[in-house]
Amino acid sequence: MAIASPRGQQTGSPVQTVRNYVGGAWVAPAASTVVDVTNPATGAVITRVPVSTPEEVDHAARAARDAFPAWRDTPPLDRAKYLFTLRDLMARHGEEIARLITTEHGKTLPDARGEVQRAVENVEVAAGVPSLMMGYGLENGAGREIDEEAVRRPLGVFAAIGPFNFPAMVPFWFLPYAIATGNTFIVKPSEQVPLTQNFIFELLHEAGLPPGVVNLVNGDKNTVDALLDHPIIKGISFVGSTPVAKYIYARAAGNGKRVQAAGGAKNMMAVMPDAVIDKTVSNIVNSAFGSGGQRCLAGSVLVPVGPAHERVREALTAAVRAIRVGNGLDEGVAMGPVISPTARERILTAIERGKAEGADLLTGGGAADVPGHPDGYYVQPTLFDNVTPAMGLARDEIFGPVLAIMPAASLDEAIAYVHGTPYGNAASIFTQHGGWAREFAYRCDVGNVGVNIGVAAPMAYFPFGGARESFFGTQHGQGRDAIDFFCDRKIVIRRWFHEEGAEAGSHW
Ligand code: NAD
Repeated sequence: MAIASPRGQQTGSPVQTVRNYVGGAWVAPAASTVVDVTNPATGAVITRVPVSTPEEVDHAARAARDAFPAWRDTPPLDRAKYLFTLRDLMARHGEEIARLITTEHGKTLPDARGEVQRAVENVEVAAGVPSLMMGYGLENGAGREIDEEAVRRPLGVFAAIGPFNFPAMVPFWFLPYAIATGNTFIVKPSEQVPLTQNFIFELLHEAGLPPGVVNLVNGDKNTVDALLDHPIIKGISFVGSTPVAKYIYARAAGNGKRVQAAGGAKNMMAVMPDAVIDKTVSNIVNSAFGSGGQRCLAGSVLVPVGPAHERVREALTAAVRAIRVGNGLDEGVAMGPVISPTARERILTAIERGKAEGADLLTGGGAADVPGHPDGYYVQPTLFDNVTPAMGLARDEIFGPVLAIMPAASLDEAIAYVHGTPYGNAASIFTQHGGWAREFAYRCDVGNVGVNIGVAAPMAYFPFGGARESFFGTQHGQGRDAIDFFCDRKIVIRRWFHEEGAEAGSHW
């Protein structure tokens, strides 16, 4: 089996297989099954991923466990210093990371650069660990001369399982916080996008982290099962589709682990009749078609209320028609391909179903031809009108460049639409009316609300997660939630006895 030199392999020939990183060293895969990874813009095979075996997962779990005691003993400020170094390395190599993301995922370079920025910000926030992790105490909290204190302490080995759509950022909702708090970590990236984490792990290596503090294990669902069942691993962070999130939550919790599992989405964007149309339209287009509609916060249903329907339709149709589809590495391209032929098939099937169910196709509606890239996985930016709540376009997560206009008669009806799917990741409202915006934000049972914002993505110091079937667990990713997820609170109750009749401090 050919072994990859991690850096620069995306351009190398012949195609190489990515390696795992365990105990501070790159390890040749033992797995006999390898999966091809393609560049979605061209269809070319760019690398191969080994499906790591339970033995390889065990190797990583043991390395992480062995590293834990000394890492926990390392003072938080010293742990933070590794994050400062990592932050500088990631910033310095930001353009290389962004190009890798575009090469294996397909999103445009500006989108990929934004993703790298989000990953780096999580490192910056986690570097505040001495303050973030601090506990609290109360003199005489448990009675006269009995002080009580809560300390946050790390638990041991955690693992994260990532989706394909944010190869750099999503693992970094977790990794910086896990290691900052003194835990040790295993990342299992999506098998569709292994190169980005492969490169970032080179930077983690260069940052000089002690061996075993961070580990990289490639693979698919078989590898995931080994992580979920491994007795050394204390907790699992998962981001992906809802059916898999439910499965992960049940299986890992059944094995006694902490779990945070983010699932899929079907995000609605309400437009009120007073919305500022040009800015609203550009926000909606970015939300629905940015990253090829493959963001968990992408708005996929537009809900114009009353006369907003007439006001928004024409401008929106023109804006969607103007989206330039192509290779995300090319200048001026606004939307890249979707991740795989399977994803394209699923999206095209949803489009055909929309047509069959009677929605009005305003633009798009099929695969896109991109000159020079006949084997890329391109889909036309697609806009449907007069969608109704019973149609698949209104209910199912399509996760592609398809936007459905579903008119509502009132704000009440728009809010009811938000609750018409089991998902609760995000919802947006476009209006100049504070009362309507307040009503919408208050009543929508979702994790993230945007007011005149199409992608309500929390910054690194706020929690990132959804509601209902978009999230299973309690603590979300990022910020204080992540600190809580990766720490226990231990109570220490302390009292000191005095010898009868002795003065304090006088009886040595
Ligand atoms: P996915 O669920 O197919 O895969 C995610 C991860 O789970 C991968 O690492 C994969 O190897 C593993 N996996 C897949 N099937 C499995 C199985 N049966 N058992 C165990 N593990 C399995 O998701 P995806 O297609 O990579 O990502 C897109 C999905 O992720 C969308 O549904 C999107 O909405 C969601 N997403 C959600 C958020 C959020 O914050 N809620 C963020 C990003 C993506």
